[in-house]
Amino acid sequence: MVDITEKDFLLVVDMQNDFINGSLAVPGAASIIPVINTYLEKIQRRAFSKDMHPKNHSSFKAQGGQWPQHCVVGTQGSELHKSLDIDPKAVMVVRKGTEADRDAYSAFDGTGLDMVLPSMLSGVKRIFVCGLATDYCVKATVLDAIKLGIKVYVLKDAIKAVNVKPGDGDKAIKEMEDAGAIFITLADVK
Ligand code: ZN
Repeated sequence: MVDITEKDFLLVVDMQNDFINGSLAVPGAASIIPVINTYLEKIQRRAFSKDMHPKNHSSFKAQGGQWPQHCVVGTQGSELHKSLDIDPKAVMVVRKGTEADRDAYSAFDGTGLDMVLPSMLSGVKRIFVCGLATDYCVKATVLDAIKLGIKVYVLKDAIKAVNVKPGDGDKAIKEMEDAGAIFITLADVK
């Protein structure tokens, strides 16, 4: 069991419309929203990362990149999903991938979160991570947090993978575990 305290911190990765039911929908993404809402009840300190791209972002197919256009600044697709139990205007948001010529999968990549977060983790240097997608932004975020010396609990029932190639999600979980991440579910927290 993991005892959640008021010092604990939840990092919710990219729960944006485009990844849930938009242009780059992750299979099963909507099903983790109620689970994330339960974690949000338990963990009061939290931040939400958002993929936030200019229209001509280098990751888009039109620019020779891998992905359909998604999470463009100012669009509905870039907004956090409305079924999350939060006030989207009152939460800490971490924006990534904001430069046209550079992609960023990790919530720590070019966002300044690496400077801010460690000092916010008073006492226990650990975070809980959930969101989308297991094999891209969740993985990159988790691996970066571990590099910063933070102990990372990944909420296995609150992540979903893109699985461009079958098995990508499981491979990503193995990589995170090998790096030291601990995978838990709702049944493990109190
Ligand atoms: Zn993106």
